[in-house]
Amino acid sequence: MSSTAKYIFVTGGVTSSLGKGIIAASLAQLLQARGFKVTIQKFDPYLNIDPGTLNPYEHGECYVTDDGAETDLDLGHYERFLNVRTSQANNVTTGRIYNNVITKERSGEYLGKTVQVIPHITDEIKRNIFLLGESGEYDFIITEIGGCVGDIESLPFIEAVRQVRWELGSNSSLVIHLTLIPYLKAAKELKTKPTQHSVKELLEAGIQPDILVCRTEMPLPLEIRKKLALFCNVHLNSVIEAMDADTIYDVPILMRKEKLDERVLAKLKEQSKAEPVLDQWKAFLGKLKNPVNEVSVGLVGKYVSLPDAYKSIAEAFVHAGAQNDCKVNVKWISSEEITKETVTHVLNGLDGILVAPGFGERGLEGKIEAIRYVRENKIPFFGICLGMQCAVVEFSRNVLGLDASSTELNPKTKHPVIDMMEEQKKITIKGGTMRLGAYTCKLKKGSKAHHAYGESTIHERHRHRYEFNNKYLEQIEEAGLKAVGTNPESSLVEVVELKDHPWFVGVQYHPELKSTVLNPHPLFVKFVEASLQHKRNG
Ligand code: GLN
Repeated sequence: MSSTAKYIFVTGGVTSSLGKGIIAASLAQLLQARGFKVTIQKFDPYLNIDPGTLNPYEHGECYVTDDGAETDLDLGHYERFLNVRTSQANNVTTGRIYNNVITKERSGEYLGKTVQVIPHITDEIKRNIFLLGESGEYDFIITEIGGCVGDIESLPFIEAVRQVRWELGSNSSLVIHLTLIPYLKAAKELKTKPTQHSVKELLEAGIQPDILVCRTEMPLPLEIRKKLALFCNVHLNSVIEAMDADTIYDVPILMRKEKLDERVLAKLKEQSKAEPVLDQWKAFLGKLKNPVNEVSVGLVGKYVSLPDAYKSIAEAFVHAGAQNDCKVNVKWISSEEITKETVTHVLNGLDGILVAPGFGERGLEGKIEAIRYVRENKIPFFGICLGMQCAVVEFSRNVLGLDASSTELNPKTKHPVIDMMEEQKKITIKGGTMRLGAYTCKLKKGSKAHHAYGESTIHERHRHRYEFNNKYLEQIEEAGLKAVGTNPESSLVEVVELKDHPWFVGVQYHPELKSTVLNPHPLFVKFVEASLQHKRNG
């Protein structure tokens, strides 16, 4: 190992959903605020090679990085907190690890040896752990191990962590264990037993955690902290309380109060460069918590019963709201609820409508109906990916009078205004899936998008198969829906805007993926501003 990066592992115990990703991102944020270079990586113990094929109902949103990796939604938190880009190396699943090992086995790289979980799978895990550190770009690599200790599927990861700890020693690596301290109402007591058991499981696997981060509804009294320290072999000041927070963006501040960052630096024998500079973060929190305005926007989508399916959109509204000193109430609307008869009632009182990305047919006519309503009633509209495609279909049908559709929804449509391009068909036949990752887009001066970004060349992330069909471009533009952003190489349409409408913008890409606390996405900022304006105009 040539690099000097230090490795911090975050494991979880007792139950899932304790927020390992947020704790990891908060620690990273605090270290970054001290001037260190930090990145976070997540290991997911499932067998899918990536979450691209997972149903959002099951796993929440699929987060796409600049290099086109389809990843876990925790990477979104990492980017939102750190304002640093992630990549495929930041998210590795068991499926990918096995796939790499089996591919090597097939090409004879193991020279006839029996290929086994230990050492071959664990070596491949370790190779992936060290990959980011060896780039020389980072002081700290935080590796989040998905799932709970004790799960069968996380065993090889836990074993790899044990080996890394052994190889690197305690000055270069440490383990933070995130656990739950339940409060029993009837007994009026916080209980440490589940944590003791989960630390025992870690010890059985050969890992002594250095720091315990304890999720709790109640403050942890000293005697509980002492008990945890004694039974789990950690220093008293390494028992960190993680109280439930009003917003995930409070967590770095809470972790700072509990001195998580100081404990980490002390254990890793690392001199702090400076006290963390959190001014901008605190300014954001101040705006977030003291809004002077309020707007209600509708998010029309297919997976509205599971808000994690649109995580990045929800967070982008939080960032853009704070920027506008405005509380954004997001009303989640199932597109299946919307028909010609119900649309006025369902969208009543909303100051703006966002039509969400998605795949497949269900609820599509509802999305189109919602778009007709906001176009005709001059309500701010923001269409993302499928939302933009629906806007093109709606316009072609109701303004141009074409019997139009997207070939994703009706392969036999007379007017395929949204269609799969020949290039994409070739990729799909080859087993590739989608147009993924960052592409360049040129914006027309004078457009709302250009005004929002304040520049002509932008790079945004994609995840789709279908495109605006340029055969209809002239006809659609003439009638007033303008293509104001295009890809300079392929001429594919990236942004459409409606003339004579206060704010009607559809984008083929996913702006929500690049919104961060310190850099709220300009289109979300402007959409919230337009919604506020709409509300003021009554
Ligand atoms: N289903 C559409 C396509 O594949 C839109 C995808 C999306 O909204 N992410 O082109």
